[in-house]
Amino acid sequence: MTAPHDAVVRPLPYLEQDLGRVVPGVAKKLAKLDVLTVGDLLRHYPRRYHRWGHPTSIGELRVGEHVTVDAEVEQATMRTMRSRGGVILEAVVRNGRDRLHLTWFAKHQGALRRFEQELRPGALGLFSGTVKDYRGQMQLLHPEYELRETDDDADEATRLAESERPRPVYGLTSGLKNQTVVEAVKVVLTSMTDRDLPDPLPDDVRGSMPGLREALLGVHRPQDDDELKAALERLRFEEAFVLQAELARRKARFAAQAAVARPRRAGGLLDAFDARLPFALTAGQRETGEEIARQLAGGSPMQRLLQGEVGSGKTVVAARAMLQVIDAGGQAALLAPTEVLAAQHARTLQALLGDLAEGGMLGGADGATRVALLTGSQGSAARRRALADIAGGAAGIVVGTHALLSEHVQFAELGLVVVDEQHRFGVEQRDVLRAKAGGVPHLLVMTATPIPRTVAMTVFGDLETSTLREVPAGRAEVVTHLVPAARPAWLERVWQRVREEVERGGRAYVVCARIDGDAKREDVDGADLVTDLPPDGPGDDAPAQRPLRAVTEVAAELRAAPALHGVRVGELHGRMSPEDKDRALADFASGAVPVLVSTTVIEVGVDVPDATVMVVLDADRFGISQLHQLRGRIGRGSRPGVCLLVADVAEGTPAAARLGRLEATRDGFELADADLELRREGDVLGAAQSGRGSSLRLLQVTRHADVIERARVAARGLVEADPELAGHPALAAAIQGVLAGEREEFLDRT
Ligand code: ADP
Ligand code: MG
Repeated sequence: MTAPHDAVVRPLPYLEQDLGRVVPGVAKKLAKLDVLTVGDLLRHYPRRYHRWGHPTSIGELRVGEHVTVDAEVEQATMRTMRSRGGVILEAVVRNGRDRLHLTWFAKHQGALRRFEQELRPGALGLFSGTVKDYRGQMQLLHPEYELRETDDDADEATRLAESERPRPVYGLTSGLKNQTVVEAVKVVLTSMTDRDLPDPLPDDVRGSMPGLREALLGVHRPQDDDELKAALERLRFEEAFVLQAELARRKARFAAQAAVARPRRAGGLLDAFDARLPFALTAGQRETGEEIARQLAGGSPMQRLLQGEVGSGKTVVAARAMLQVIDAGGQAALLAPTEVLAAQHARTLQALLGDLAEGGMLGGADGATRVALLTGSQGSAARRRALADIAGGAAGIVVGTHALLSEHVQFAELGLVVVDEQHRFGVEQRDVLRAKAGGVPHLLVMTATPIPRTVAMTVFGDLETSTLREVPAGRAEVVTHLVPAARPAWLERVWQRVREEVERGGRAYVVCARIDGDAKREDVDGADLVTDLPPDGPGDDAPAQRPLRAVTEVAAELRAAPALHGVRVGELHGRMSPEDKDRALADFASGAVPVLVSTTVIEVGVDVPDATVMVVLDADRFGISQLHQLRGRIGRGSRPGVCLLVADVAEGTPAAARLGRLEATRDGFELADADLELRREGDVLGAAQSGRGSSLRLLQVTRHADVIERARVAARGLVEADPELAGHPALAAAIQGVLAGEREEFLDRT
């Protein structure tokens, strides 16, 4: 970066300075960790801490123990090793009459030069490492040490405290030593004043928590556990607060804009729809419906999250909101995550609306509208027709996938955006669609499954929330059983059970994790597979994972299975053409092909009321919420359902815990909490948020609900008083840092 010559060159704030100028020797290595500036280094918090422990007297050492000894250097000598090449530094330290040998090996003298210089005879300090036996003599190999100035000013208590001080252990990369990071951090911290570190936490929010400089010192160079704890708590709160402030600001900014009011009109499509609805709305549907209706009628844009139990009837709630908007002269767009789901939504809405959706057609009701479907893979004639209906306003309801976001799509009067199964869309995509409206459209976001409160607060913190807890009365029971995969007789029984259900007029889903038998990992078709591997990869004794069962393979097997003789078996997966997918689902729904072997493409939203059995193969490889979502595909009508989870799980494994919970309850909110408990953090927020560059280093959604809650209250209060954060430049800068650093990835949740 070069500054123009004639401009006044202002020095960069210290935090933004390149490490190349501050700690030139190690900047390149730190850059590999994405640590580029002074600020990055300060926020490169230790991974963990380690304690040396009480000093042990040299006379009591035992081989294999990790010890710290308090001693005086007697001598240190470096020499080259003729036999092996490289150099060795040997030191002898002494405490009273006991002596101990310390040894370091290195390739070159340079690597040990500093140790040799520091370990002068008479130097005092703590030496820490594991006791080894070398030819009958005890020694510490590559010990860590810390020297102190003179003996006089260190009383026994100070030394004891020093030996127990938590010592930072940093995330490293090849060629970068922990000690190097410790020293680089020290350089930066000692040259830093409070003025270099504007605190994003306003004083009254911070209260008695340490200031930023104090907290950074406390986390990088804690004197004791109390200081460390206070520092961690403050920095964790800061992460939550900055994020909540941004969410509150988004919300406030949006609320300040004007939207076209879409009040309910008597005698319109909505009234006609309600009059012909074949069932009574549940209490929850009525209440959320009223909330939504009220907000649509107001002049500021609705921003609402509708979360609900699987099968709780979110679609009807959304349809009623759309009709109110159409009655008030607007259009509604429904954004779906997959083509299968978009097509099904269009079909469902058409069926629910009947002649109310046959605008401009023979037999259409008075004032009827139209449902347009727009997907990426539809033919050009159908596409042109849809685009014309959307642009001309003939289509009041527009259902589509990402294709809706394309610049060719022009709305006549977009008044409401409904996003289904939001976790697959990001804020940016919402915004693209919103921008297609003349003014600011109302927004209704629907989640596929119940989500825990902390996730709602963190990921959807800029939205208000409505919750549908109940499923419609009369909904059938679904029982869930685990079936051991290794028992052929049990599997045989599973297929017989499928046959019995089919003979009684039911349908059966058979879910597989993959499409093809011999294809690779990418072939999983949206299955969000769980590996249960430890973060560092499989251990040596980890069992090899069985190959996953695949759709094409299982379908062939079932067609040949005696138990299913004469029963037609279909297939559905993401690599089929849209027409084939539609046909497979339609044949399944009609009962012409009552067994459907499928990937998780059926996971969200697919609604076939006669489906009564679900068999999930390799169930141990799916996460809780995915299985709950899958299971939501059955028991949607009045017939009881049965869900058979086929897997081999050993007791006490995470997979056994997941499947056990699923067997025990059908309550999606309970399962969402269990999921949060059992999953690792990265899985909850998605890879983008757990990877490098994430703003969340210390805050864990799974563990710090109270912190998030406190931060949210504080952030909302602050943003209410100062919506643009004019009086809080340090906070505004911190938000910018987070947003710039990750291209709004966190808020994107794609
Ligand atoms: P989800 O909330 O999982 O998206 P859907 O909107 O797909 O659920 O609804 C599930 C099924 O329940 C659909 O077949 C729908 O027609 C039906 N349904 C919705 N509301 C009611 C109700 N109040 N009474 C009876 N059935 C309902
Ligand atoms: Mg749905």
